[in-house]
Amino acid sequence: MSYIEDNQIEKELKGQIPEAPIDDTENKQQEDSQKPQQQESMIGKKINVGANMQRIDKDEINEFSNKNRLSRVGESIAVNSDIREGWMEVDKALLGDRAIFYRPDWEFRIRPATVEAIRHWSTIDDENANSIDRVFNEVMKTCFSIITTNGPIPWYNVNAWDRFFFILLIREYTFSKGETKIEYTEDCINCNNPVTFQLTSGSLLYDMPDDEVMPMFDQSSCNWIIDPNEYGLETDEILKLWLPTLEKDINVKQWAMNRYQENPNRELDPVLIRFLPWFLPKISKDDTIAQRQINEFRRKFESWDIDTFNFYNDVITNIMVTPNTKLIQKCPICGEEVTSPIRFPNGASSLFHVESKFKKFGKK
Ligand SMILES: [Zn+2]
Repeated sequence: MSYIEDNQIEKELKGQIPEAPIDDTENKQQEDSQKPQQQESMIGKKINVGANMQRIDKDEINEFSNKNRLSRVGESIAVNSDIREGWMEVDKALLGDRAIFYRPDWEFRIRPATVEAIRHWSTIDDENANSIDRVFNEVMKTCFSIITTNGPIPWYNVNAWDRFFFILLIREYTFSKGETKIEYTEDCINCNNPVTFQLTSGSLLYDMPDDEVMPMFDQSSCNWIIDPNEYGLETDEILKLWLPTLEKDINVKQWAMNRYQENPNRELDPVLIRFLPWFLPKISKDDTIAQRQINEFRRKFESWDIDTFNFYNDVITNIMVTPNTKLIQKCPICGEEVTSPIRFPNGASSLFHVESKFKKFGKK
């Protein structure tokens, strides 16, 4: 299994600027949600990562989005205009199978990145993962919202694995003419001809939980409810797990950064960090409370015997939605399926880069 390497975490934490503060004034109505770790795992049935990949293609998007609802992203993203204004509802069908991980009454809205946000964007340090992380969250905070039947709830209740999808969707909505495509080529492994890859919200692939485990997910509460006894692990405790939200991701990172600043030599347990967002409905942004919550979970975590740990570890591995780091494209010449790692040819900072109409002054 590939856990996050300790030193990798330390590296990530090093030089991390505090996360965009979570703005509680936006709305108080909170729902249980989750946090995110994106790591690959090799346990259980998920050894063959390629087997369960989901892909939403253009036709599917069009098919789903051409209902007569007002201003939905799917149908109107192609409408020409310069930088746009206004909120638009996102057709949840664009999420594909991942839509099930939200309560049915939730609706998502996005708006184009403002000139101010784009200006902000230019401060991204492409060499610094934390800088990218922070600006991604900033874009989500200003351009993404969640509406429920009880009113709006904060943007960070989104599942962490969907952040990049929404970032790309916001980007596509912002630059609707398609003049700022993120494209690159890769040679076909079969015929050597160049194959063009385009990075769009619809080109992202996700490794989903198997059909076999999906019935254990309860959409109305957004919990996974699993009875270990059915798998031969005798226990009185039914396992109840929450989804990893962006909020938990942000707060765990902040917590880890605080620990690092207290003592750069202390090692944080990456396995514990991987489990946290699933086992805790919320993680506080208040360091004292977060510390208490995490310590409490740690005591539980450390009390598990090896069978219990292994079972829980298999569970997490199999219910996790993992964004794939590759894109797939058919070679236009020979039809071979070619894969390419997701990349930003000019760095993440180019994602919201606006081509100016004037001639560039100087080379820098
Ligand atoms: Zn080919």
